[in-house]
Amino acid sequence: MAVPKKKTSPSRRGMRRSHEALRVEAYAECSNCGELKRVHHVCSHCGYYDGREIVPSGDALKSAVRV
Ligand SMILES: [Zn+2]
Repeated sequence: MAVPKKKTSPSRRGMRRSHEALRVEAYAECSNCGELKRVHHVCSHCGYYDGREIVPSGDALKSAVRV
């Protein structure tokens, strides 16, 4: 098994972890119902995307589409 020759310094560890930050997901208002939705995603509230109804709205939609 390969074993590290030196202990990783706090600086090296920080440089490695500089890419691990969580990004804030982009949200925008739905043009149909005005709810906040993920951009380039079907609206989880009304099921519309690009002015057309993609998913029939109703309670079943809540479990089928992630916000
Ligand atoms: Zn909507």
